[in-house]
Order: sequence, then structure tokens, then C-alpha cells
Amino acid sequence: MHTLVSSHEGLEQLHSGSVWTEGPLWLPATKRVRWSDIPNNRILEWDQVTGVASVYRKPAEYTNGRALDAHGRVVQCSHGRRALEREDAAGLEVLVERWEGGHFNSPNDLAVVSDGSIWFTDPPYGLHPSGREGYPGEQEYEGCFVFRFDLGSGIATPVITSMVHPNGIAFSPDETVLYVSDTGTHEHQPDSKCIMTFPVKGSGVGRGRVFARVPVGAADGFAIDREARVWTSAGDGVYVYSPAGELLGHIPVPETVSNVCFGGENGDELFITASTSLYRIRTMTTGAL
Ligand code: MG
Repeated sequence: MHTLVSSHEGLEQLHSGSVWTEGPLWLPATKRVRWSDIPNNRILEWDQVTGVASVYRKPAEYTNGRALDAHGRVVQCSHGRRALEREDAAGLEVLVERWEGGHFNSPNDLAVVSDGSIWFTDPPYGLHPSGREGYPGEQEYEGCFVFRFDLGSGIATPVITSMVHPNGIAFSPDETVLYVSDTGTHEHQPDSKCIMTFPVKGSGVGRGRVFARVPVGAADGFAIDREARVWTSAGDGVYVYSPAGELLGHIPVPETVSNVCFGGENGDELFITASTSLYRIRTMTTGAL
């Protein structure tokens, strides 16, 4: 474990008081972490310089996963808009909200690839009748897919259609391997909760296989480090897996973890969204660039 983090005692709670946190992203330009408190329909930011957290936007159309594009702009998933959106100094712009005429379910998490495409997952959590994570609604296509959005054509194309509720998504540092977690189960797929891995083939993927199952709870979001290890959320903390799927370590967190991201000025801090809180722990590695 010493090769992953210096000490478990180093886990710090940076903020609490949310209902369900998700979508952490380090913003190098402002030295801030941005994340969502989805049921409160707000986006928060924590300032590394002052140590103070503040509301960045509310209402926020129930945003979830986010990442930076090659130009440093935030691209993010919106349950409320059922869309991918991009934000820069000029404002907020919807990038794509439909596939073949129907709205997406509620885009959950995304990954930006070096060719400029954005790959995202589309489970139905934002449509739930409770309205907890979005506006109650109906699915407008059958299933929950992983899409590849091509910025040039403006078209999103399904790349994975076999998962129950695809959720977290990330690529290996060399972009040859795609990881996607599944947080859903069907009667005929009772063991579907896992992280799947797929070989990337051009603008699509080859046949997938199970990469890992976390011991407690389910894997939601995750991040990849520079040595291609997978740092994943789970019910009782963060688990780290080798690229071969071997469990390397566990960082206990006192709340259910939804997602993680690397950040900080040296890229070696792991920011953890966990239920009501944002946590941080210093690691012995950095995020994949
Ligand atoms: Mg998620």
C-alpha cells in the first residue's frame, strides 16, 4: 500500500453537507476542485489556496461527470438537460442531446480522447420518478448505451449496447483500453455490477470482459494513474487495481464513494466524492495525462 499512498491517516475531509456528491474535477487554471451535489441541484468548488468551498452554480440542471477538453474547457454530463454540455468564459453550450431523434437518458460520466471525441455513459438515474437526480421522465430509446460523440460531425454513435447501467468511464493512458463500470442488474444479468474492459478499435471497441468487482458495494466512477492502475469508487472507500486486474490496495473512506479524480499542483492528490463529502488523500503517483 505504501507504493500507492503515503498513509491512510492522510485522508482529509475538505467539505461536507451535501446529499450525494459526484463528478469531481481538478481545475488547474484556478487551483480549484469542482464537483456536483446532484440532489441539491448545485455545483460546488473548493479552493486549494484558501481551503474554502463555495457554491459555483445553483440550479445546475443536475450535472454529473465532467472533464477538461484539450482547450481547458469543462465538458460535463447533465441529467436535467439529458445532454453533454461545454462551458467556457463565454458561457454554457449544449453539445449533443439526441441520438436518432430521441433524447439520451441522463448522461452520467464521460472521457475526452486525444482525437477530440467524447465518450459517455447513459444510464437512466436522472429519469427516476423520485426526481432525486433529475426530472422524472421516460427513456426515448431502448437500453442504456455508451456513446462516442464526434465533435466534427456533431453526431453521437453507440459503441457499447450490452451493459445494464454503464456508469463510470475512463481510458488507459495510451487510449488502447476502455474501462466502463456497470451499476445495474437485470434478472437475467444478476452479476452485472463490475468494471468491464474493452480493447479500443478505431472509433469503437472490441469484445469486453470483466476487469474487476469491488469487494463492497459497486464501482461507480474511477480514475487511471500514470502507470495505468485503476483507482475506483466502492461502498467502503477506494480500491486500486493493476492493469491486469489484480487488487493492489484499499483506502478506507467513512462514506460510500461515488467518484475520484487526480489533481493538485503536482497531480498527485486524489480527490474523492463520497456521499455527503469531498475528501482528499495524497498519493505516490499522478493521474494519467
Ligand atoms: Mg457516476
